[in-house]
Amino acid sequence: MKYSQVQNFINGQFVDTASSESLPVISPLDGMLLSAVPLSVQSDLDDAVAAAKKAFAAWSKTPIKERVQVFFKYKFLLEKHLDELAKLCSEENGKTYSESVAEIEKCIELTEFATSLPQLVTGEVLEVSRGVECRTEHVALGVVASIVPFNFPAMVPNWTIPNAIALGNCMILKPSEKVPLSCGLIAQLLKEAGLPDGVFNIVHGNDKMVNAICDHPGIEAVSFVGSTKVAKLVYQRATIHLKRCLALGGAKNHLLVLPDAIASMTAQNVVASMSGCAGQRCMAAGAMIGVGNIDHIIDKICEEARKVMPGKNLGAVINKASKERIEKYITEAETQGAKILVDGRNATVDGKENGSYVGPTVIDFVTPQMSVATEEIFGPVISIMRTNTVDEALTIENASPYGNAASVFTQNGAMARYIIDRASAGMIGVNVGVPVPREPFSFGGWNESKFGVGDITGKSSIQFWTKLRKSTVKWNAEAGVNWMS
Ligand code: NAD
Repeated sequence: MKYSQVQNFINGQFVDTASSESLPVISPLDGMLLSAVPLSVQSDLDDAVAAAKKAFAAWSKTPIKERVQVFFKYKFLLEKHLDELAKLCSEENGKTYSESVAEIEKCIELTEFATSLPQLVTGEVLEVSRGVECRTEHVALGVVASIVPFNFPAMVPNWTIPNAIALGNCMILKPSEKVPLSCGLIAQLLKEAGLPDGVFNIVHGNDKMVNAICDHPGIEAVSFVGSTKVAKLVYQRATIHLKRCLALGGAKNHLLVLPDAIASMTAQNVVASMSGCAGQRCMAAGAMIGVGNIDHIIDKICEEARKVMPGKNLGAVINKASKERIEKYITEAETQGAKILVDGRNATVDGKENGSYVGPTVIDFVTPQMSVATEEIFGPVISIMRTNTVDEALTIENASPYGNAASVFTQNGAMARYIIDRASAGMIGVNVGVPVPREPFSFGGWNESKFGVGDITGKSSIQFWTKLRKSTVKWNAEAGVNWMS
């Protein structure tokens, strides 16, 4: 085992769990055994919640301008440890080093946003009647939890950590059991940045720990990012216990390509979107709908896809089971009559025979009913459908139960606007393959890609991580009693 067993992080210390159960942590790059992650038990969670609750008393009373000083230092430390964090992130997740660097850079941007929160959370005050003032303030919720997926070991935790904590909450993070290592380094950096003990805690585990979090009476709010199946379970379980919950789910994102699109730019964007992070992004392009004759663009897409090489500019998928699942989808589409233009099955990388690689795969002549058209594959695969009109393409896009992202490639502004208005997705791109809104804009999909109100990042996160205090104040007795006294 390359690293020692992963530990929980409770009250500012790395501690062993009370459990004797653990799971192996295996690098998808080469199959190396990296570590073991504990399957923590209820008493571990109870300890973390107690530590967070204790810390909350002082942390929530610390003025926000003081609280964000920790995040100015944390941002500096992320920059200082960028290389170390990026290497760890690649090792446990399988993405390329440059993708991990981009991930850590995004963590820095997220932290930068959190440092601006004092400018954004000012309340309001108005003299609503003679001598009577109404005032609003954003107040921290208490102990909150963040449950995260495997595909961004550092970025998704940082969607929630800086904002929730800068806004005065204390947090329990439950990392993905597949990638538990990066979070340990994040905890160290937060401590070094001066975050008081107990404000940030990590409890490792799998579905049982997620259920324990949803059920825990000491936790006020739960944010979740992962698959739609689990997002639904978590949303239902957390809200049944009357907790605030925001649960982001999976996706099947459609790219609509029109014949007037700039072929080379479109091809580069399509391929980057479907193959970046080995297609394991909730913003990845999973389906493309060509409207009219776009053969010349598909040729270029294949040309671009062939430049994407496993082990070079394409990372691994998370594990062998995932590789098998993805390849099964491709074979099924082929059997059903689709044409595999670029075939990523059976990919191997010399010297990394135990890695889990799938090459870029372009499937043409897919029909809207095929599972490669409707289901989230979560691999470097794009399924191309063809229609004669934009409205037919929109009908296919609108029929998806998901609604994270959609993009259109065209040079026609009016047509782009038409599609923006009609696509059923929370994040829309025009000539952009991965339309992630950057801070201060918020991140969040629609339909079955998100359950709950508001978005997880940016300004929208303020609403989720705080409650509003409304106070009505009157000191001037001489104004007498009026209807609102
Ligand atoms: P997952 O749903 O399997 O796991 C996410 C978290 O839930 C993990 O911490 C895991 O331990 C826990 N979990 C797994 N099964 C559970 C169960 N039955 N009950 C309770 N908890 C359970 O997701 P994943 O495979 O880690 O991540 C990939 C998925 O996440 C994809 O569907 C992807 O689209 C989605 N994702 C969505 C977004 C978004 O912003 N919408 C962002 C990143 C990833």
